[in-house]
Amino acid sequence: MTRRVVITGGSSGIGLATARRFVDDGDDVVICGRSENKLEAAKAQLGQVECHRVDVSDQQAVEALFDAVGPVDVLVANAGICRQARLDDANSDEVWRDSFRINVDGVYYSVKAAAESMPDGGSIITVSSGLGKNARAGYEAYTASKHAVLGLTKCVALELADRNIRANAVCPGWVDTPMSRGDVAESARRAGVSEQQFRKESVDAIPLGRMVQPEDVADLIYFLSSDDARAITGQSYNISCGEFFN
Ligand code: NAD
Repeated sequence: MTRRVVITGGSSGIGLATARRFVDDGDDVVICGRSENKLEAAKAQLGQVECHRVDVSDQQAVEALFDAVGPVDVLVANAGICRQARLDDANSDEVWRDSFRINVDGVYYSVKAAAESMPDGGSIITVSSGLGKNARAGYEAYTASKHAVLGLTKCVALELADRNIRANAVCPGWVDTPMSRGDVAESARRAGVSEQQFRKESVDAIPLGRMVQPEDVADLIYFLSSDDARAITGQSYNISCGEFFN
């Protein structure tokens, strides 16, 4: 059966790989993102996909997206940002607000709008992070926002269970995407080491000796959306090449 699937932040990284996974399965895929150029590039790669330029932190725009798209069987609430700021950094308040606007409000608006018309038996997958369970100095905003995504996902799972709509979260470790590359560059700058060195030390600390690839996460998301995961709801799954979170 062809499913209607919406993936927020589907023009890059994990979202793009996830869109490819569902397109390959023959599903009817809609992606949204903030950048028209990235959406066009994604469409050129994916072919059969509907693209919408939407900022998920804008509730009206999110509601308009789901009104236009109609009932969706699967929502992947993936769009997010990762910005570091220590408490005494000049921009820490701005980073805090931006992180919550996009990573928390954006997921809430997407889930709320999708749930309204989602058919019974649908599936919601949110993208949290290993930092949705753990902590790292200088990542207060990101970490708190990803913890919030897990709380939201568990409540949504309970609320929608009587419609047999399942809601689960994925918690990736380091995934090789534009986001993590930017974060490695920032961490290296803060640590006063080269990007190459910081990346090597990070990868050396991963038991399987490599970063997670976006396709690895896409496969997990796809599984959680599928009937094979019919007894799974309200859960969060680490995908980290062996790093332990809680
Ligand atoms: P990415 O930067 O490659 O892609 C992020 C996507 O989100 C892009 O398509 C971007 O356009 C979109 N986006 C950002 N802000 C948006 C907004 N306001 N409205 C609509 N779209 C918006 O990053 P990624 O690594 O693929 O990250 C995807 C998700 O995975 C994020 O939620 C991120 O926090 C999470 N995550 C990533 C990693 C990692 O190591 N890369 C680890 C754990 C969790």
